[in-house]
Amino acid sequence: MPNAVDQLFAVRAAIGKAEAEAGRASGSVTLVAVSKTFNADAVRPVLDAGQRVFGENRVQEAQSKWPLLRSDFPDIELHLIGPLQSNKTEDAVALFDVIESVDREKIATALSEEMRKQNRFPRLYVQVNTGSEPQKAGIDPKEAVAFVKRCREVHGLEIEGLMCIPPADENPGPHFALLEKIAGQAGVAKLSMGMSGDYETAIGFGATSVRVGSAIFGAR
Ligand SMILES: *Cc1c(COP(=O)(O)O)cnc(C)c1O
Repeated sequence: MPNAVDQLFAVRAAIGKAEAEAGRASGSVTLVAVSKTFNADAVRPVLDAGQRVFGENRVQEAQSKWPLLRSDFPDIELHLIGPLQSNKTEDAVALFDVIESVDREKIATALSEEMRKQNRFPRLYVQVNTGSEPQKAGIDPKEAVAFVKRCREVHGLEIEGLMCIPPADENPGPHFALLEKIAGQAGVAKLSMGMSGDYETAIGFGATSVRVGSAIFGAR
């Protein structure tokens, strides 16, 4: 069995190399370690090794795993990277520090209400469906700039960045480039893009965070 801690250090080294090759500052890319499907016992060694930023794609799974881990590691930063259902908004706002999957009006409305109610303000990213895939979450690229604007002006939400998941069977580069272009047009600074198979490529296209699961924790 490959060891998650060794793989964590290998991924960190690869990120450092990709930063250097892209002429970017060392440490400019945040590693979001995606721990979905792995239980608390599998995550703990990675926490002990110093990793503090984690991604989960399901609210309920994260609730079953993270409150206890967080009592031991209070400085963790938890990202929701999967689709958010409006009936899970309350739980998501209570648990996550960053919600990367804001992708429709109904969720923007629900988040705005819930954040005010709880007086808790997770940082927010808008997910863009760069490949316009019908089965995939995310706002269509053509509507993304207007949606970011409505999040700000209608819902009073601060949008920190954009997130995308390129189509599995395509060269990801053009999708990363499109996300970077939309971010410029929308005036958002952060780009969450790149997963186990393509995070080094994403860093070349300006990713400020990469979401890496299987390359650290192993196959799911
Ligand atoms: C699962 C997941 C990842 C991590 O995928 P790997 O290929 O295992 O690195 C990244 N982003 C999202 C949105 C995911 O659901």
